[in-house]
Amino acid sequence: MNLHIPFDNSYARLPPRLFTPQEPTPVSQPRIIVANDALARTLGIDPAALHMPEAAQVFAGNLIPEGATPIAQVYAGHQFGNWNPQLGDGRAILLGEVIDTTGQRRDIQLKGSGPTPYSRAGDGRAWLGPVLREYLVSEAMHAIGIPTTRALAATLTGDTVYRETRLPGAVLTRIAASHIRVGTFQFFAARNDVPALQALTEHVIQRHYPNATDPAGLLTAMMERQASLIAQWMGLGFVHGVMNTDNCAVSGETIDYGPCAFMDIYHPNTVFSAIDQYGRYAYGNQPQIAIWNIAQFATALIPLMPDRDAAIDSFSAIVNRFPDLYAAAWLKVFGAKLGLSTPTEDDRPLIEDLLALMTRDGSDFTNTFRALGTPSAYDHFADRAAFDAWEELWHNRNPDAERMAYSNPAVIPRTHLIEAAISAGVAGDFAPFHAMLAAITQPYTATDPLYARPPRDEERVTRTFCGT
Ligand code: AMP
Ligand code: MG
Repeated sequence: MNLHIPFDNSYARLPPRLFTPQEPTPVSQPRIIVANDALARTLGIDPAALHMPEAAQVFAGNLIPEGATPIAQVYAGHQFGNWNPQLGDGRAILLGEVIDTTGQRRDIQLKGSGPTPYSRAGDGRAWLGPVLREYLVSEAMHAIGIPTTRALAATLTGDTVYRETRLPGAVLTRIAASHIRVGTFQFFAARNDVPALQALTEHVIQRHYPNATDPAGLLTAMMERQASLIAQWMGLGFVHGVMNTDNCAVSGETIDYGPCAFMDIYHPNTVFSAIDQYGRYAYGNQPQIAIWNIAQFATALIPLMPDRDAAIDSFSAIVNRFPDLYAAAWLKVFGAKLGLSTPTEDDRPLIEDLLALMTRDGSDFTNTFRALGTPSAYDHFADRAAFDAWEELWHNRNPDAERMAYSNPAVIPRTHLIEAAISAGVAGDFAPFHAMLAAITQPYTATDPLYARPPRDEERVTRTFCGT
């Protein structure tokens, strides 16, 4: 075998009720669309092997690589606030883990690789659209510097997937610090399976939070990462779209790019997901939902504690610190976007005033921040007198242009361009996908103006759909 993956599968060594052994279901004609050489290298995989015919067989699930222990992980979760006691990898299979060149353990998962015991009514498959979208958005997030799962490969299966229409099937090879979710803890807490919860907790502490010594320490550390992560999403105009507890990775990485989108025009109430009728997961609600999810995580840790009432008190006190942590993280992110080296509470109104002007004037989120400090900043505001007044106050704070250049990406994966790349891909033309991938992986330099241009009215995508 040419494709050597140095597996070391710690999750598969946990108690068997945390997962089900499950092999991928073979497909008819695997063909790799894209493989991530740089990521392969950090995983200890020879990039040259990614381009051998065997790699397509492995990434489509036709060939189980040596050392893999394919499993489907079980979890539960709150979906739009409603408890679902039984979820799990319904269309994904964890091949195993590797220790990367930095010493970090990383999962290698196939998404779209066939049914599992957790598929419920689903077919276990993915069509090409969501696979290309997740590839682009996760790699963009990484390039921008946001904790995220990664994409190692996208592979066509050669089979048809049936949604509203017939669509080409595909598999995403996803890399993650782990795929353990708040919902994984909830699954065992809801069943009062303390031994499983204990094993999971020890695994997560060792793997993600080695400085934590007990469940309270784990909760605190996990919450700190969530506060930082959500603040970074906010600083990009990123709307996750489906922040269910089963889509919240305890590692602090962004996971499950379904109906997600980056805002073009700034407005805090922005919602894209077609199924998010009440705006639960709107841009401006994301910090509230993060607390809600962290509270579910805290609740799931309570069965581990000897004194339930005392645990409720101490965990509540921890979760109640989230607003302050988040406020500090937000100030840091937006302060950097304005080029402020040490933003203080006094700068908060300056940031809020700018966002208020942007809301009123319908400014493009990405391009407005990118243009600040240049003459073209004006173009993003209808009320130029108001912007002038704001700019004077801002200049008094001595913004650092270099800091701004690396805190305000020029290129984000704009939804209308993702959709165009998907449409071309479905028709067999992957050139737009590859061109966009090249642009979004250099986010701080806009080489081709196509990728920095907001959509024209007729190009604008206002509704996005889950990647099922
Ligand atoms: P998501 O909303 O994409 O995070 O998925 C929620 C749940 O539905 C997870 O348990 C998925 O594994 C499952 N699921 C989504 N799509 C499919 C599919 N096509 N086949 C089987 N299960 C699926
Ligand atoms: Mg999910």
